[in-house]
Amino acid sequence: IIRTRFAPSPTGYLHVGGARTALFSWLYARRHGGRFILRIEDTDLERSTAESVNAILEGMTWLGLDYDEGPFYQTERFDRYKEVIQQLMDQGDAYYCYCSKDELEAMREEQRANKQKPRYDGRCRHLSTPREGVEPVIRFKNPTVGQVVVKDMIRGNVVFENSELDDLIIARPDGTPTYNLTVVVDDFDMQITHVIRGDDHLNNSPRQINIFNALGAKPPLFAHVPMILGDDGARLSKRHGAVSVMNYRDQGYLPEALLNYLVRLGWSHGDQEIFSLGEMTQLFNIQDVNRAASSFNTDKLIWLNQHYIKTSDPEHVAQHLSWHMGELGIDPTNGPALTKVVVLLRERAKTLKEMAESSVYFYKKVESYNEKAASKNLNENSLPLLKAVFSELSELKQWLAEPIHGLLENCAEKHGVGMGKVAQPIRVAITGNTVSPSLDATLELYGRERALDAIKRSIE
Ligand code: GLU
Repeated sequence: IIRTRFAPSPTGYLHVGGARTALFSWLYARRHGGRFILRIEDTDLERSTAESVNAILEGMTWLGLDYDEGPFYQTERFDRYKEVIQQLMDQGDAYYCYCSKDELEAMREEQRANKQKPRYDGRCRHLSTPREGVEPVIRFKNPTVGQVVVKDMIRGNVVFENSELDDLIIARPDGTPTYNLTVVVDDFDMQITHVIRGDDHLNNSPRQINIFNALGAKPPLFAHVPMILGDDGARLSKRHGAVSVMNYRDQGYLPEALLNYLVRLGWSHGDQEIFSLGEMTQLFNIQDVNRAASSFNTDKLIWLNQHYIKTSDPEHVAQHLSWHMGELGIDPTNGPALTKVVVLLRERAKTLKEMAESSVYFYKKVESYNEKAASKNLNENSLPLLKAVFSELSELKQWLAEPIHGLLENCAEKHGVGMGKVAQPIRVAITGNTVSPSLDATLELYGRERALDAIKRSIE
C-alpha cells in the first residue's frame, strides 16, 4: 500500500508552495488508494509555535486535504529518536564528536585556502577524546566510498558521490535529534513509501538514504517538486504579496480555485485547465510534473476563481461568502438568502470578498450616499420623477423582477426619459452608489419594504 506524508515545520503560516506539495502528496495517495499522513516537524523548539501549527491545520482543512493518520508531532517522539541514535552508536555507525566551534572553523578555513569544499573531515571518527566540560554532538558515519542514488519520480535517478557528503550531526550537545535523523526515523516508522517534498531537500536525500541503509531499512522513493517563482523570476516570497493559504481565503478565493491553480503549477494534462478534485485524483501523475520551476500567475488564479464562483453550486459558494460577510461585520440573516445574492452577483464578482463588499446594502441600511452619485442623481431636477416612480412602486402588487421591470419601463416612457433617468436615482437610494446588477432583480432581492423605505428616505 502506498503511504505518503506532508511534513511541514510549524515556523510560519502554510505557504502556497507547501500547500502544493501537500496537494501532490495527497493526490498521489488518493490516486493509488493509499494513505496520507500529516506530520508536524516541530523539533526546532525556538522557531516552532502553536499558532503556526493551528495555521497549518486550518489551511489543510480549508483546502479540504484530509489526512488518514496524524497529525503526529515530532516533539512527542524524542524517546524513539534517542533509541535510534543509540542503535546507530551501538552498531558503530555513529560517534561522538568533541570538536569545538573554533576548531571546525579553522578546519574550514584551511579547506577554503586549499580550494576544497568546506566539510567536516571526520577527525573524531577514530580518536574522539572526551574533553572536560564539553558535551559532544553525535555524528553519523557516512560511507566514504561509492555512490548514493536518489530514485526520483520527477528527475529520474540523481547520483551523489559519498565522498562529497560529510558526517552529519544527528544529535546536538543536549542530546536532541536533528532534522535529517528525525525525518528518517519517522519515514521509516510511518512506513512512508513515497516522499514528495520541495526540491530544496534534494541534497538531504542521499544523506537520509544512507541512514536508512544503516538501519537496514528500504529507503522510500522520492519526488522533489520544483519551487514556485514569483512573476519576477525570484522564489515566491512574502514580497510578492499573498503567499499564505489563508491569505487567499481572506482575499476571496474559493479553495477549489486555489487547488485547481496549484495542481496546474508544474503539472498538466493535455490543454485542460479546469480540474475538480475528483478529476485531479483520477488524472494526476507525479511523473508528469515538470522539472523546471513554475511561475505564479495571479491573473490565472483570478480566472479560475471566477470560473468556480460562476459554476459551483450557489449553496456552496454562499457558505464561503457567509464567512466574508462575517468579516465585514454583516449578519447575513438580516436580509435575503445568501444563495440568491450569489446567483445575482456571480457573473460579475472576481472574488468572494468583492461579492461580499458589493452586497452589504442587502443587509445593512444605506447610511450615506456616494457624493458624486447623489449630486448627479438625487437633486431637485430628478426628485419629482423619483417621487412619481416611488408612488407607482408602492402600488405594485407583485414585488418580482419582471413586473418591476415593466413598471420602470412604463415610467420612463410616460415621462419621456431614458431608462437610466428612472433607474439611477433608485440605485443610489438603495445602494448608496450607481453600480449594481440589473435594478429589477436587485429590487426584488432587496425586498419590498426595505426598498420602499430606502427610496422614501432619499426623497425626504
Ligand atoms: N519539515 C521539512 C520542511 O518543512 C520537510 C521535510 C520533508 O518533507 O522531508 O521543509
